[in-house]
Order: sequence, then C-alpha cells, then structure tokens
Amino acid sequence: MTTRIGSCHCGALTIACEGEPNKISMCHCTDCQRRTGSTFGIGVFYDRDRVTAQGTDIRSFARGSASGSTVTFHFCGACGSNVYWEPARAPTLIGVAAGAFADPDLPGPVQSVWSRNKPAWLLLPDDVTVID
Ligand SMILES: [Zn+2]
Ligand SMILES: [Zn+2]
Repeated sequence: MTTRIGSCHCGALTIACEGEPNKISMCHCTDCQRRTGSTFGIGVFYDRDRVTAQGTDIRSFARGSASGSTVTFHFCGACGSNVYWEPARAPTLIGVAAGAFADPDLPGPVQSVWSRNKPAWLLLPDDVTVID
C-alpha cells in the first residue's frame, strides 16, 4: 500500500498517510489564501485512522470556515507550516496540505470550491468540478 509522508518545511512535523486519499480539493476562500500565502489551498483528505502525525511542537489554531463549521489547523511551532487540519463538518476526515508532500506525482484536485474568489488568470483543468 502506498504511504505518503508529508512534512512542514523544517521537517519537525511529519504526517504519514496510508493508501490513496478519499478526495483532493482545491479551495480559493479568502481564509485559505491568507493561511497558505498562495491564492488557493489544496486539501488531500484521508480517513483519520490512516493518518499519523508526529512532531515535538505541534500548535493548533481553530476558526470558523467560510461555510460556517469549525476547522482546527495544526502547524509546526518551529517553522509555522500548516500541515494538516480537522474539519468539524467531516469528523472522520483529516485534511493534509497538498504541498506538504512536495510530490509532483500526487494526483490533482477533483474539485474547486469557493471558485468565486479564484483569480481570473488561474485556469483549472477541464476535469475539475467547479463549485462557486
Ligand atoms: Zn517545521
Ligand atoms: Zn478555503
């Protein structure tokens, strides 16, 4: 079975994810823009029991999401990278930041949400389901 290892950029926080993800979704909401420093985030969602995070200084930050439910983000206390999060709306899942894998072979997103906030210059693949 495939196991993908994600990490923060200093390497102190790692996350091991077994098998293929349930879903990969890109989000253009303004919170994801500010969280990532990019114009979108990509979440790789796995069942909780297939994910193991390890780190000596894992910090957390909870906020309401653009759709209203709480999301708790976990990040490295040393370098600040947000590596994974827990969406209250989908309590059986963990979202992992796609960039934490730094893997060009990671499958692409199947959906794009909060696309109304997407910059016009960003073009999406034809097979991505676009949700406004
Ligand atoms: Zn780090
Ligand atoms: Zn978002």
